[in-house]
Amino acid sequence: MSRDWGSLFDIDTGPEDLLEHFDTEWFRGQRYRHLSDERHGVERGTALVGDVIVRGYPSMPRALVLEPAIRETFDGPVAIEEKLNGYNVRVARIDGDLLAFTRSGFVCPYTTRKVEALLDAEAFFDDHPEQMLCGELVGPENPYTDHDYSEVDEVGFYVFGIRHRETGTPMGVERRLDQCTTYGLDSVGHYGTFTPTAAVDAARERIDDLNARGREGVVLKSADGETALKYTTSAIHRADLEHAFELPFDYGRDFVFTRVIREAFQAVERGESPAAVRERARELGEAILEPAVETVRAVDAGDPVGETHTVRGDPRTIDDLLSYFHDQGLELHVEHDETDGDQRVVTFTKIAQSTRDKTRYYLEGGTIDE
Ligand code: ATP
Ligand code: MG
Repeated sequence: MSRDWGSLFDIDTGPEDLLEHFDTEWFRGQRYRHLSDERHGVERGTALVGDVIVRGYPSMPRALVLEPAIRETFDGPVAIEEKLNGYNVRVARIDGDLLAFTRSGFVCPYTTRKVEALLDAEAFFDDHPEQMLCGELVGPENPYTDHDYSEVDEVGFYVFGIRHRETGTPMGVERRLDQCTTYGLDSVGHYGTFTPTAAVDAARERIDDLNARGREGVVLKSADGETALKYTTSAIHRADLEHAFELPFDYGRDFVFTRVIREAFQAVERGESPAAVRERARELGEAILEPAVETVRAVDAGDPVGETHTVRGDPRTIDDLLSYFHDQGLELHVEHDETDGDQRVVTFTKIAQSTRDKTRYYLEGGTIDE
């Protein structure tokens, strides 16, 4: 090892202890390591590229009831931002190359290419070589998520954090917004900064509006960017459940309890009438049962079941992405594979093996002990 990993490994352990938890991967012929689970206070997704440390993006707590959670969490100004529903990406410039890290610290070949094409970040990294851009990659053409945003045709990258890559220290909210303006980087929507008391009503109003538009929710942050709190819409709870119950044996169990609890506390905080609660219950039930029924029918008909995504890019990038998924053990079913000018456009399904196999088993008479 060519250097002392002081800032990272001093946290509460010796370097060897922590290093043994890192997995080794390769990107464009270069070896790197990443931490897929939080260890010794070091965030999941932390990566080591050569002698550069790229810290993971910390996970943030969720409020179930806005008013008391805001009161308990913040004692100064609260910035409210939109929470976008895509996937978390950290972008760092290392030895002159932009690299895009996903949540668990993989360098994703597709995301790296997209970010290179989307971002004009040279000036930013010339001035801030030690910082990383943290943002949400959203849009219909990405290999991980499928939430549609009317303002995004293919993919978009919206910055919600600028952090020192080695220490993880965030830039304050106002300064980060200024930097995004200065360097022409898209930012997540910012709804203003409020006292904690005023933030409660402001967040509620935003949630109503976002809910009506089928969007995910808000993130509230202290001015220094250190403390964050998330809160989500009923629309996204249902969308998550629909997604989870399309693949009931892969995601169903983990999703259902958490979303039902979020809905229950939301209904209570809003003081909903029995009729409103009944309507919520009906929609929740539909979000669970209808996709599950469709999936059982699809397996019965022999159709592939899983998450379907479309990606577009130069043939090399698409090849790299598909081999990257194969290396991760994913089984892919290619639905379309076309050329559009010099771009290859592929629609594929990540086969949900548990759902396929268990559904088949029960359809063929398999029984269940319960
Ligand atoms: P974790 O809490 O570990 O991140 P998760 O994937 O379940 O797990 P989410 O519920 O999606 O997390 O909420 C946190 C994520 O929200 C962030 O990691 C980030 O990708 C995303 N996000 C979207 N908009 C924002 C924003 N304005 N500020 C911070 N994070 C945001
Ligand atoms: Mg998310």
